[in-house]
Amino acid sequence: MVVIEDDPSISRLVTAALVGDGHTVHCCGTGGEGLDAISEHAPDVVLLDLGLPDQDGTEVLRQLRANSTTRDIGIICVTARADEIDRVLGFELGADDYVVKPFSPRELVGRVRALARRLAILHAPGPDAGDEVVQIDQLTVDFGRRETLAAGSPLDLTPMERGLIEYLAVNRGLALSRTQILEAVWGHDWLGGSRTVDMHIAQIRRKIGDAASITTIRGVGYRLE
Ligand code: CA
Repeated sequence: MVVIEDDPSISRLVTAALVGDGHTVHCCGTGGEGLDAISEHAPDVVLLDLGLPDQDGTEVLRQLRANSTTRDIGIICVTARADEIDRVLGFELGADDYVVKPFSPRELVGRVRALARRLAILHAPGPDAGDEVVQIDQLTVDFGRRETLAAGSPLDLTPMERGLIEYLAVNRGLALSRTQILEAVWGHDWLGGSRTVDMHIAQIRRKIGDAASITTIRGVGYRLE
């Protein structure tokens, strides 16, 4: 994985913990170096400090999500500000998880493991994936190609957005609780809370536009119509 962090003491601590857990770690102190390391090493997971000397970490995030070769990378943001979490996870930015400084190396290792596991599930073909395609109004969820289209145009989705929309598509027409959605898409070890679901839904709604509608079921959760 690639660690982008300008504070050498944090960088050392994090690297030791991750290497101890079996990861290969490439450390970078700036956003520019980080982007280079990512294109060179094609990591599954990136740990990204938002406060970097050369550019804002959010700009690095935006670039990774805008590029089709790096869009599927799992990204854990590191922030010093708890009040930034909604924005980080809220997918203006498109992070998959976050940790707030100060964090324990042990917590971080757990987050990386959990994210890597979710990504492995998302990237694997479904059990009977083959060529199954679910069509809902103008929304096409193609499980074989792991692609979602709105009115025929492929959508740029983050890994967790894709996991969520696939889960809604499989269960189309059913009212799904936030807890159900969290467990199915993020897993039981997710620590981020159910706001995560709301923020991802908001982002998906924005991306799919009028192609299909996700109804809010008050006091319960959501349903893809
Ligand atoms: Ca920093």
